[in-house]
Amino acid sequence: GRMPPTPLDRPMAIATTLLDQELRRQLAGALRQAPARGELAIHYQPRVHPVDGRRLGAEALLRWRHARYGQVPPNTFIPIAEGSNLILALGGWVLRQAMADAARHPELGRVSINVSVRQVLSGRLPAQVATALAESGLPPERLELELTETLPLGDMAEAAAMLGRLRDCGIGIALDDFGAGYGSFQRLRELPFSTIKLDRSLIARLPEDAKDFAILWAIRDLARSLRLRLVAEGVERPEQLEAAIGLGFDEVQGFLLGRPAPLEALVGPTAPMQPGPAAAHRLLGGGP
Ligand code: C2E
Ligand code: MG
Ligand code: MG
Ligand code: MG
Repeated sequence: GRMPPTPLDRPMAIATTLLDQELRRQLAGALRQAPARGELAIHYQPRVHPVDGRRLGAEALLRWRHARYGQVPPNTFIPIAEGSNLILALGGWVLRQAMADAARHPELGRVSINVSVRQVLSGRLPAQVATALAESGLPPERLELELTETLPLGDMAEAAAMLGRLRDCGIGIALDDFGAGYGSFQRLRELPFSTIKLDRSLIARLPEDAKDFAILWAIRDLARSLRLRLVAEGVERPEQLEAAIGLGFDEVQGFLLGRPAPLEALVGPTAPMQPGPAAAHRLLGGGP
């Protein structure tokens, strides 16, 4: 008998999967060495007041440059790190570095740091944060932790207690990427957030899209009722900033207001002139 015909793409698909796994394994190995080799850096992106353009804080965004792979995007290496305890080491590094930067530069404002679900579930987050607070001397009111909304529901009560302890010290907790996934309302109810960060997919079609506008209007009312700060992410165009002002958002972040950049670009006497909040507001013909 004859073998059934094999689809031509089948061996190729398997080879690609193997290659992906091999590349992933190599990247994980290289990433493990990255902190000791000085390949990690943090870029900061301003979060500004929508109306007057003043900087309220900055989000810390991890960067990895490898000798052979070059600049590896966070959306590639963060999921790899989250696949193992590697994210705990990287997360600890970011907490210490970003909080030390912020402590040295009060003019940076509040620093917000992304934390992975795995860091929260590990139970080590309060100790990591406490250590970094003590080492840096940063006042806890100047720290916010950003948590993406994909937290597994099973561990909600434990996560709520831990995040509650952080909130009690004055640390802000933001629900990141709100509106990008499912089940946001349960998390909003169960966890002690201080801030909602709207996913940029909700901002992308503003102000033309009437449905998105209606949804954002409702989220705005929800945030006010729950006494949560509301931050828009991914503001790229002046019309989107105008819409954010009309909707009464508390903070805006996006390429229009400033791209992620090394600390030196945002602080200190050496800060070079660059398009920032002031420039964005001149675009709208208002502000300082
Ligand atoms: P995120 O927390 O939602 O961070 C915002 C992302 O949106 C950043 O991408 C930022 O560069 C990008 N962004 C900001 N404004 C705009 C805009 O106007 N338009 C567009 N198209 N994009 C904009 P980035 O730096 O590539 O980071 C991607 C994701 O990687 C982050 O999304 C976050 O989930 C994760 N990440 C970054 N650093 C860390 C970290 O230190 N720890 C953890 N756990 N995750 C991190
Ligand atoms: Mg974030
Ligand atoms: Mg995030
Ligand atoms: Mg986000």
